[in-house]
Amino acid sequence: MLKIDNLHAAVEDKDILKGINLTIKAGEVHAIMGPNGSGKSTLSAVIAGNENYTVSEGSIVLDGEEINELAPEERAHKGVFLSFQYPVEIPGVSVTNFIKTAINETRKANGLEEMPANEMLKKIREKSELLEMDRKFLSRSLNEGFSGGEKKRNEIFQMAMLEPKLAILDETDSGLDIDALRIVANGVNKLRNENNAILVITHYQRLLDYIVPDFVHVLMDGKIVMSGGKELAYELEEKGYDWIKAELN
Ligand code: ADP
Ligand code: MG
Ligand code: MG
Repeated sequence: MLKIDNLHAAVEDKDILKGINLTIKAGEVHAIMGPNGSGKSTLSAVIAGNENYTVSEGSIVLDGEEINELAPEERAHKGVFLSFQYPVEIPGVSVTNFIKTAINETRKANGLEEMPANEMLKKIREKSELLEMDRKFLSRSLNEGFSGGEKKRNEIFQMAMLEPKLAILDETDSGLDIDALRIVANGVNKLRNENNAILVITHYQRLLDYIVPDFVHVLMDGKIVMSGGKELAYELEEKGYDWIKAELN
């Protein structure tokens, strides 16, 4: 689903990603962990096409198609979803109206007609039930006065509705409270399937108690320096990152 090859990226002439190789197959959940400042958020931003970053080398291939040159919206339309770290508030636009617009824009970009209203309603009902969302929540203004947990719930709802090929969840360094953590984890577990790939970026091992990844990668100084199974997350929790640095030297 995603194949990243020798990816180098810079921001304001500062090299941040220094040769990332990463392959994620459909049906897999990968976690990226690493110390603060190692380039985790940069990687997610570069995959999503954030224009503040310059890709100087390498390729990003989604489902067989190189997407390096595409604008963020085009990538979104092709099925890349990046959770928003700091979602904007849109007073007067409800959670459901926002997602209806997003879905129809995506369909239009892919040459499809608008989703019929009854089908849209059915889908909203299905997904909100799957995620055990309160009906009242759906009519609230987007992100206005949302708690941390509600913001996460909205993000997961967007992901459920959009059914991306590749979902990237980049959690903020400020972290998730236990409520938000459960929402994200339950959502991801319910949404993972054979047709999507999920990349969870976190420096909290705890999240990975709930979302069990197929692979864990360690990002340090812009490179993936170690990869392993879910047990690697526990090893990192226990031993930190210094032993990896020592091993690399
Ligand atoms: P992480 O998510 O692993 O904590 P980031 O990707 O946020 O790391 O940051 C990696 C490095 O790139 C840091 O040194 C950070 O200061 C720098 N960086 C990231 N974004 C910018 C930016 N827009 N301008 C300048 N430096 C940046
Ligand atoms: Mg950081
Ligand atoms: Mg980050």
